[in-house]
Amino acid sequence: MSLTRAQLAQQIIEAGRFLYGRGWSPATSSNYSARLSPGEALLTVSGKHKGQLGEDDVLVTDMAGNSLEPGKKPSAETLLHTQLYTWKAEIGAVLHTHSASATVLSRLTLSDSLVFADYELQKAFAGITTHECQVCVPIFDNDQDIARLARRVQPWLDEHPDCVGYLIRGHGLYTWGASMSDALRQVEAFEFLFDCELKMRALQRV
Ligand SMILES: [Zn+2]
Repeated sequence: MSLTRAQLAQQIIEAGRFLYGRGWSPATSSNYSARLSPGEALLTVSGKHKGQLGEDDVLVTDMAGNSLEPGKKPSAETLLHTQLYTWKAEIGAVLHTHSASATVLSRLTLSDSLVFADYELQKAFAGITTHECQVCVPIFDNDQDIARLARRVQPWLDEHPDCVGYLIRGHGLYTWGASMSDALRQVEAFEFLFDCELKMRALQRV
């Protein structure tokens, strides 16, 4: 059963409280969305404090990232959300966060991807049932031209249908799920793995 706009808006508001509370969406950064219908997404509007979102702080867009609510300005990164809904029909929610760990780790990693292996928590990602596999997370260089960035992300998605998330260097994380709770679980798993990886690197330097 599909959820109503009011229910999805509430999920976005609650996600914002949680993600802001964990320190993963500081200073009005980040954006969140949910699929409203096959051709529409409900997204956070630009520039709002994510711990204090209200029902009016979301808007409907089409899958090309255009606002369907005159007077409301969508987030600059809307296209990166709608691109994911178009990529896979089963995606129901997309979360983009700006944590310190995602920012630092993506800057420290000079290659174009990060590989997690042998972590039990990899099983929190959709489709993964054992630690005995690798989760490859691509890192795209940051770009203020979001359409250009989306064009760089698309070939990776097309070639990696099992991709569970990606990083933008010095910027943040994109991950998604069939439902908002699935997407939130993946943010948490990613943040745990980012923290582990940073701690491992710090200790290995001693
Ligand atoms: Zn961002």
